[in-house]
Order: sequence, then structure tokens, then C-alpha cells
Amino acid sequence: MNAPESLPPELPSFDNSFAALPPAFYTRLNPTPLPAPYVVGVSDQVAELLGLPAGFVASRQFADIFAGNALLPGSEPLAAVYSGHQFGVWAGQLGDGRAHLLGGLRNAHGHWEIQLKGAGRTPYSRGADGRAVLRSSIREFLCSEAMAGLGVPTTRALCVIGADLPVRRESIETAAVVTRIAPSFVRFGSFEHWASRDRDAEVRQLADYLIDTFRPQCRAATNPYDALLRDVSTRTGELMAHWMAVGFMHGVMNTDNMSILGLTLDYGPFGFMEAFDAGHICNHSDSHGRYTYRNQPHVGQWNLYCLADAFLPLLKSPEISKAAVDETYGDAFAATFERLMCAKLGLRQALPDDEAFIGKTFGFLQQHRPDFTLFFRALSKLPAAVDSENREKTDSPLRDLIVDRSACDAWLDNWRARLAQTPWPDEERQAAMLAVNPKYVLRNWLAEKAIRQAQNKDFSEVGRLLACLRRPYDEQPEYAEYAALPPDWASGLEVSCSS
Ligand code: AMP
Ligand code: MG
Repeated sequence: MNAPESLPPELPSFDNSFAALPPAFYTRLNPTPLPAPYVVGVSDQVAELLGLPAGFVASRQFADIFAGNALLPGSEPLAAVYSGHQFGVWAGQLGDGRAHLLGGLRNAHGHWEIQLKGAGRTPYSRGADGRAVLRSSIREFLCSEAMAGLGVPTTRALCVIGADLPVRRESIETAAVVTRIAPSFVRFGSFEHWASRDRDAEVRQLADYLIDTFRPQCRAATNPYDALLRDVSTRTGELMAHWMAVGFMHGVMNTDNMSILGLTLDYGPFGFMEAFDAGHICNHSDSHGRYTYRNQPHVGQWNLYCLADAFLPLLKSPEISKAAVDETYGDAFAATFERLMCAKLGLRQALPDDEAFIGKTFGFLQQHRPDFTLFFRALSKLPAAVDSENREKTDSPLRDLIVDRSACDAWLDNWRARLAQTPWPDEERQAAMLAVNPKYVLRNWLAEKAIRQAQNKDFSEVGRLLACLRRPYDEQPEYAEYAALPPDWASGLEVSCSS
């Protein structure tokens, strides 16, 4: 496979930082070509982050390169090895079974590794086909960019390239490749892999690589490895709080899907909370409900304990390793969650009783099951004070979401009493609340609508959704229908691990 002939001269060149690790960490191999590829969607923001010229993005070469049919100059693709716990059970060796790391580049926006997902088999494919289907590639593409728009740490996605190549899942579908970027795709499972084989030197090499490349501040600590584990643990706690605050459910929080950098990674059967139910299972394959909304913070911690075990060769003592998680994760989660929830509720300053009020609010949501996103958006627009005659009308946008109106009024009374403890002019508070309570999230029915059209070769809905989800906190009246509850046809939608 050669570089395409006429690449623009201003394309960035690769520095392949991950490839500086010893060869045991990966296998070099080229993607498998995808016949007659076409562009399904492109994130202009990510193209800009990478410094790709607009002319190149619009060129024929673009589809070829991000389908895996041609290589950018300097790119030496590789697939990385990792292991992991899946659904709480040790799964042994996994690895990039359908991902090719093209290389990394450094620019003014940071260090980005570019990865194709779905570009063919690798030594880690374990008998599977190395492909991804259009449906799951569109979901990963849109959700990566939607999460970035929401301000949640995440890997990003440059584009989806489709092709007519048939791919067998429950039925025959077509192939697609999604290009993801992140500073690093290293996972908890990347450490577990070497620790499970008693390969202490590799555990150390991986930790040193991460510290030197991404967390140089850890090097100054008394124990840099302890500092690294604490960093991962803190960021994971913060990430879980972000997920909970936007109602995001990952669906497959296996340790091989947990990012060492604290990013949302590997979008599969994810979901956004609609009618609130803390026990909601968004992944049809998760029969025991391990990854429900309410379990996510616990699972984050469980996964960190797996990582802490894998750090034993570096930290020598299980107590030290466990303490690195225990002394950071819970506090990072609680502090971030409380900060985000106070902002969602329009509380100008935190008060000691807010934790209890937030807890009561979740109890109220659980009992009355309003749409999570619409609830906080409607709340954002309500005034801090109402007189009793006008109350029904003034509060109707929120009351209409809840069948039991008197329970709603009672909760609103508590909310208003709390607001009064830290007064904040309505206009300022409402603006602040609207800036943290999204109007638009990637509801399953929205993704499904874009997918169905794309399966009929109409990619316009992918582009429209991307444009809308870029600015989830803005009113965008032209996209108002995207803020709606799922229509009847979408009531039985199910998403599974099949992708
Ligand atoms: P996931 O559940 O998507 O995180 O995948 C778990 C593991 O299975 C990862 O190592 C993937 O690379 C691998 N995998 C998933 N689907 C495929 C596929 N179609 N071909 C090859 N490997 C796959
Ligand atoms: Mg995965």
C-alpha cells in the first residue's frame, strides 16, 4: 500500500509515539482495503483540530485514506494488544480486533492519535471479521461529537466512510469505518494485559510512556506510578459525574473500554436517559443490568480496582495501590457530581444540605419518571418566585412532564425555597442553567432515523444531527423536533453489543 500520489503539501506528518513502545505492545499491519468507499459524514471541527485542509477533506483521496485504502505519508499502522474484564469476568487477551492506529501527530491543539475502526482483521480479532457496520459507526461518530459538544471528556471522531461490502451480523448489513482521534487510546486493560502475565517490565514501560507523554507532572511526585494511578482515578471519577449529569449510559463499561486518560471511549450500545429510571439498562446484551445508570459510579470504582491490581508490580503493596483509588475516586466523583448538579439546579453557591436536596430530587425523578433532558431544560426557564394564581400557567412546561401535578408542585416548592437561600436574579440564573442543561442529546430515535436514511444512501440526516448536536445548549429553533420525546415507532428500539 502506497501513499496517494497528490497529497497537499501542508498535511501534518506523523510522530507515532505509541510505536516507540517495544514491539510486544502491538502488531504492525495495514488496514484491509474497502472497495468503492464513500463519505457518510465528516466532523469539520475534528478536521480543523487535525489541521486537515478543506480541499483535502473534500477530495476523493479523503474517502480512500479513511477507508484504509491508502496511507498518509509517514503512517505505519498498528493494532495494539490489551486484555480486560468483560461484565465482571476476566476475559484474557483482547486487543484492537478491528482498529488500526495510523499514527499520531502533534500540533497547536495537542497530540492526536488517529485510529480507524472497522478496517479489517488483526491478530487480535479472535475469529471475528474486523469490520464494523454502518449503524454502529454512525452511532459512534455522532455520539463522540455530541459528547464533545456537551463538554464531556471523550475521544473524537473525524468521519464515517461507508461501502457496499456486506457484513453479517444478525442480518446482512454494510461495512463502514469510523476514524477516531484521541491523545491516546490506552485502556485499563492495556495494563491488565501485562500484569496478568507477570510481565513487570512491560507494566513499567507502559506507565513510563504515559507519564512521559501525557502526564509529565507525575514524574515530580515521590512515587510517579502512584501519582499516575491517582490521576487516572481522579479523572475517572470526574468522568462518571459528567456522564450522570447529562444522563449518559455507556452500556459496556468493561475494563478494556476504560480510557487511561479519563475519556469516554468505545461507543457501542450507549444511551441517553429519557423517562428517568436509575435502573435503566441501555444495552440489550447486559442481561443482569451490570451497567445501569445508577451502577456506573460503582463500576467505575470496580474497574479502577482492577487497574490498581495491575499496578501492583509498580506500587509493591496492595494497600498503597488500593489507597490510590480510595483516596481520590470517591471525592472526585462526589465533588464533580455535586458541582454539576448544583449548576443544573441553578444553585448559585453550594450549601451543606445540597447533597440531601440532590438526593431527594433524584428520588422525585425516579418516582415520577419525567424525561431527564426535558425536565432540566424546562426547569431552567422557570422563575424563582410564582404567585399562586398564575402558578399552573407559569410552571406548565415542567408540570406537563409529570402526571402527578401536586407532587410536582411540592418538589418545585422545595426547589424555590432552596433558590431563595442563595438569591440570584432570574435572568442570570436562567442563562446559567440553560448553559448547562442541554436541549439536545443524541436520543436513540434520532440516531436511528439518521441510520435508516443512511442505509438508503441519504446521508443528509447525519450531517444535520451533527450540526445540531454541536451546540446542544443553544435553542436552535430550526432543530426543535430533535428535542422531542421518542415517537411511537421508536418505542421498541433496542441496542445491543452487536456492531
Ligand atoms: P467491544 O465490545 O466493542 O469493546 O469489543 C471487545 C473486543 O472485541 C475488542 O477487542 C474488539 O476489538 C473486538 N471486536 C469487536 N467486534 C469485532 C469485530 N467485528 N472484529 C474483530 N474484533 C472485534
Ligand atoms: Mg472495546
